[in-house]
Amino acid sequence: MKDKNTVLLIFTGGTISMSEDPTTGALRPIDFYRLQEYLPELKQTGIEIKSIPFSPLMDSSDVQPETWKEIALIIEENFENFDGFVVLHGTDTMAYSASALSFMLKNLSKPVIFTGAQLPIGMMRSDAKENLLTAIEIATAKENGKAIVPEVCIFFEDTLFRGNRTTKKNAEHFNAFNSYNYPPLAKVGVHIKYFNSYIHYPDLSAKLEVNTNINPNIAILKLFPGITQQNVHATLNIPELKAVILESYGAGNAPRLTWLYEELKTAVQNGIIIVNKSQCSTGTVEMGKYETSLNLLNAGVISGYDCTTEALVAKLMHLLGEYHSTEEIIQKMSVSLCGEMTVS
Ligand code: ASP
Repeated sequence: MKDKNTVLLIFTGGTISMSEDPTTGALRPIDFYRLQEYLPELKQTGIEIKSIPFSPLMDSSDVQPETWKEIALIIEENFENFDGFVVLHGTDTMAYSASALSFMLKNLSKPVIFTGAQLPIGMMRSDAKENLLTAIEIATAKENGKAIVPEVCIFFEDTLFRGNRTTKKNAEHFNAFNSYNYPPLAKVGVHIKYFNSYIHYPDLSAKLEVNTNINPNIAILKLFPGITQQNVHATLNIPELKAVILESYGAGNAPRLTWLYEELKTAVQNGIIIVNKSQCSTGTVEMGKYETSLNLLNAGVISGYDCTTEALVAKLMHLLGEYHSTEEIIQKMSVSLCGEMTVS
């Protein structure tokens, strides 16, 4: 039995892995050895930390589904050797990556904690140090020998969120993320307070299954007053299109325009899956509550419930990559696969 807790740091990039060049003032990526110079506390944690850096380190705006696969495969290869995983990632697309990993890593029994920073690590007031050290502590936290948070999460500022429930909400302040439709999994102050009843605990007899097939042929169609038929028609007729996230109003409503109904109905008949996502951050889609959503229901649009757009993007790409039957994908869209939505 090993005597030390172990964490694998997967270093993808983002502001957290940048420091200011003292002569030019420009931000440049740093490696793990430089990180240890900035953060001598890493050695004092008593935790054995190994790191795998991406080369080159990425701004997360450049992240693609290939990046998600790479992270998933690193976790798969190293799964048995570490107590937990910390993914250092830019904040811009962190919610997409955390969502994608939650679907790719089935039967996850160890923590995978994404974190980053709003200010580079070398800067005086950087949030990198607290975020990283706390993420490492959470990644190794155990109770009765079992991981306290065996989920893909985002830790930022003082809150631990379920990854597939988060959205980047702030480009300025340290509290960059929120989970509008699901409570935090932990709050961090003097102590780390875990909210166990909100944490998902897997069947520990099931082995980790990593499914990295992705089909990116989806689109997002955001409704607005005055949207034209040409706009909707062009989106629904993108070659190879398999699914659309329809960003609707309020509880899932849309204008009662005959052409909109016909365009959506034709697309559904052509095998395109259309998922209704409210433009509101909080609350859920309730098709049929107002007359203005009946047309969507009749056209065959399905509910995205209270999912984030990030989670819907990741879930659709994942299901389209793993399954070929439209019926099967629609069935899986109506259930929560890893806590990404609340279905009553
Ligand atoms: N553009 C950066 C990124 O997402 C911002 C950050 O790290 O917060 O990689």
